Order: sequence, then C-alpha cells, then structure tokens
Amino acid sequence: MSAILATRDLVKVYRRGAAEVRAVDGISLDVQAGEFMAVMGRSGSGKTTLLDLLGCLLRPTSGSLRVDGRDTAAASDGELAGIRQARIGFVFQEFNLIPSLNALENVMLPLRYGPRRPDGERRAAALLEMVGLGERMRHRPSELSGGEQQRVAIARALVNDPAVILADEPTGELDSTTSGALLGILRQLNADRGVTVVIVTHDAGVAAATDRVVRLSDGRVVTDVRRGERGWREALGRADGTAPGDGARVWARLGGLLDRVRAGGTSR
Ligand code: ADP
Ligand code: MG
Repeated sequence: MSAILATRDLVKVYRRGAAEVRAVDGISLDVQAGEFMAVMGRSGSGKTTLLDLLGCLLRPTSGSLRVDGRDTAAASDGELAGIRQARIGFVFQEFNLIPSLNALENVMLPLRYGPRRPDGERRAAALLEMVGLGERMRHRPSELSGGEQQRVAIARALVNDPAVILADEPTGELDSTTSGALLGILRQLNADRGVTVVIVTHDAGVAAATDRVVRLSDGRVVTDVRRGERGWREALGRADGTAPGDGARVWARLGGLLDRVRAGGTSR
C-alpha cells in the first residue's frame, strides 16, 4: 500500500479579529490508497478544516500535504485545482445541488471544468443508475427526497472518476435507513473500484462500518485505530456520547439495504 494522502505537521490557523483559532494543529496522517475510514470528533474539533486541507480546497498555514507522493506546497492555485479535478470527489452534508438543474445536469456539472469528455452524459447517466436513480434523472432536486439528493451528490462526486472521495457528514441530514443505504454505496465503490473514502461523521454506526477511525480533538489526532486493533470499539463510541457501535449488527443491516438499493436501481 502507498499513501495517497500524506500530511506532516499540518497546521491551519484562522484569525478572528485579534484571536487565533488553530483549527488544525499539527496533524501527521497517512491515508493509504484503497482505505475506507472515518474522521470523528466533537463539533469544532477541526474535522471539516482537515477534510478541506486534504482536498486542496484550503492551503495550510504550515506543514505539508502530499497527494500521490507529490508535495502540494509548490503547486499554483491552478495546479491545485487540477489535482482536485483529477483526483478528488467531494460530498457535503448539505448536498449542494443546483436547484434549477435536473439530476443528470447536476451530475454533469463538474465535467464543465475539466477536459472535454464526449462520453460525459452517458457516464453521468450510468452513475445515476448505479446509485439507484435511473428513473429520476430528469427530476430536479426539489422533486427528490433527501436521500435521493445525496445519492445525486455522490454520483456527481464520481463523475470525474476520482481516486479519493472526501465526504463531510454526508449522512448528517438523513434518517438511519437512508444513511445506511448511502454508506453501502460508498462501501461498494471502495470494494469494486478501489476508491479511497474518508468520511467525517458523528455517527458511531457509520464509523463502525469503516475500517479505520481517526478522532480529532482541538485540531489534533487523539485516536487512530484500525478495525481489529485494540481500542477499536472504544474509538467508535467515545466522546460523542454515542454508544459503541456493533459492527456486525450494522453490517447485517447494511447488507440488506444494499440489496434493496440495487433492486430499486434496476428498471426491471
Ligand atoms: P468541525 O468540522 O469539527 O466542526 P471545523 O473544522 O469546522 O470543525 O472548525 C474548527 C475550528 O475552526 C472551530 O473553532 C471553528 O470555529 C474554526 N473555524 C472554522 N472555519 C473557520 C473560518 N473560516 N474562520 C474562522 N474560524 C473558523
Ligand atoms: Mg464540520
């Protein structure tokens, strides 16, 4: 395995008037290609800032980020945009779909900013099929449920065939059934296509379905555990006041949901 994202002593300081907030305060983290991991921590602990740094949406105050082994510090803004475009797909909590565009047009949106792809529309349609929205391509966001909108957002994140998906509380607005289905889709992408997935979540059930949990507190990594290692269960439940998740139970549920998503996604 090789690190697709690697940070060393990463720091992001925000200034608010005279005050400084060290939102990310010295994080050294390797994300291996093909990992499926969760970032947890209380509100304000720096999760979103870390994700935005990993996705080259923000530049660090100090420290380094390598993407595919390449140091991003020397990259121009244009080059950073190129890295994002080529390698990274974002999914946000609040879907961020364009209301006036239908599902297919929303999924195709990122294609406008990249090299021309003659197969763009077919590709976007195939992704909507994959997330079970083959019948809803011409619907606008207002005509879709929250879970359906988030699935459109996932399809959009995938349209440029990214190596990494960065998802910031993607299930935060969804009920548990829908968030389970969504997680199943991400898991499937990871298993079938080797897409690296980093999910920021408050939900121990979501974290329990990943293979690695990194916990932040005050902009620092306080826990970094992989499934099967000592401290895994504790890592899932601590600090948020949520009970430790039962991985096996969550998985049993997810398996069924995934089947239903697949069944719903075919037009048979
Ligand atoms: P989380 O996603 O874990 O809730 P954030 O990364 O959003 O945490 O925020 C970490 C800290 O940085 C918080 O104290 C937050 O108020 C502060 N912060 C985040 N973004 C900004 C910003 N654009 N300007 C000033 N402070 C910010
Ligand atoms: Mg956040």
